[in-house]
Amino acid sequence: MRLVLVGPPGAGKGTQAELLKTKLGVPHISTGDLFRAHISQQTDLGKEVQEYLDSGELVPDAVTNEMVRERLSQADAKDGFLLDGFPRNVAQAAVLGEILAAEGHKLDAVLEFRIDEDVVVERLLARGRADDKEEVIRHRQQVYRNETAPLLDHYSDIVVTIDAVGDVEEISERALAALRGDR
Ligand code: AMP
Repeated sequence: MRLVLVGPPGAGKGTQAELLKTKLGVPHISTGDLFRAHISQQTDLGKEVQEYLDSGELVPDAVTNEMVRERLSQADAKDGFLLDGFPRNVAQAAVLGEILAAEGHKLDAVLEFRIDEDVVVERLLARGRADDKEEVIRHRQQVYRNETAPLLDHYSDIVVTIDAVGDVEEISERALAALRGDR
């Protein structure tokens, strides 16, 4: 299954992706995790992207798209993947479409995690990641609304929406049921 997870920062996409990857048998590919790994290993890419992560801005598309293209070309992603944090805007979605089309593939679904913004701010402040300061969180939410939420229209024929409030395991079951098309 080729799946994209979309939802505001703090909606629990990363946690759900970790559960779903086992249940679906596909790798979890998080662009945020890939960037953070580069930053902690102090690679050239890491040095280039650090300021964007610190401020909650999107890393430029050219950099992000190439990293994703390379990751998707790896053997474990050939038969499916769970993309978490990519695409983040419509231009990235177009590039993803091209990468997949070149192999004769397409996305199966876009899973939307729906949650109230104030709930996620509380959660994120509790998580305590480097970019989890309130002003950066608010900025990331604004970037989500402006840049990322339009993807839901872009992908309207394959979006599956679930309520992202509740118990982690329950949400995961909700996601699987929604992907199966259960009502
Ligand atoms: P995340 O872990 O998905 O919350 O991403 C953390 C940060 O990584 C974001 O605030 C951006 O600075 C950067 N980032 C992650 N994915 C992307 C992407 N697809 N495009 C641009 N920047 C991204």
